[in-house]
Amino acid sequence: MRIGVLALQGDFAEHVHMLKRLGAEGVEVRLPRHLDGLHGLIIPGGESTTIGKLSQAYGLMEPLRAFAKTHAVWGTCAGAIFLSKDARRAQPLLKVMDITVQRNAFGAQVDSFEADLDIPELGKVTHTTHPYHAVFIRAPIIEQVRGGARVLSTLSDGRIVAAQEGRILATSFHPELTEDTRFHEYFLSLVS
Ligand code: GLN
Repeated sequence: MRIGVLALQGDFAEHVHMLKRLGAEGVEVRLPRHLDGLHGLIIPGGESTTIGKLSQAYGLMEPLRAFAKTHAVWGTCAGAIFLSKDARRAQPLLKVMDITVQRNAFGAQVDSFEADLDIPELGKVTHTTHPYHAVFIRAPIIEQVRGGARVLSTLSDGRIVAAQEGRILATSFHPELTEDTRFHEYFLSLVS
């Protein structure tokens, strides 16, 4: 399986490493033609404004939108913001997922945290029941999920941190920064 990782900014190398561990090929995407022949795409964490502006500069906005119509795409943290229809402020967004996000919802870098999550869908695919230990770094909250989008996981206080719409996934947290491969396995199950 050939999975692209948008490599304009952010922690794309960690996603490529994780894909390799699972026996998939991780391909760095910087230009529209790099999307050719890919089976899915991951948009990493980083700074969503930077990722958006660079995507505009490299002519990637429309090619990424077209790709998301026919392939599995997953955004982690800044990547999730970039996929959303609404980030409640002006910045370039792909708008391919019917969610509203709030950036930096937990405060500054020092307010980064980790939490154990219950993600039933992930358990079904990986045949495991133990909680998913998630890392949040200046993370967004998924404030609203509309239309075909549904909630995959919440914090214990009910705030949404993972959602799915068809084969598009958004997570507030960073599975590529842990040793737990289950979220990447879940994504690969949507690709095939
Ligand atoms: N705070 C960043 C943003 O708003 C996201 C942080 C991250 O990806 N870890 O784009």
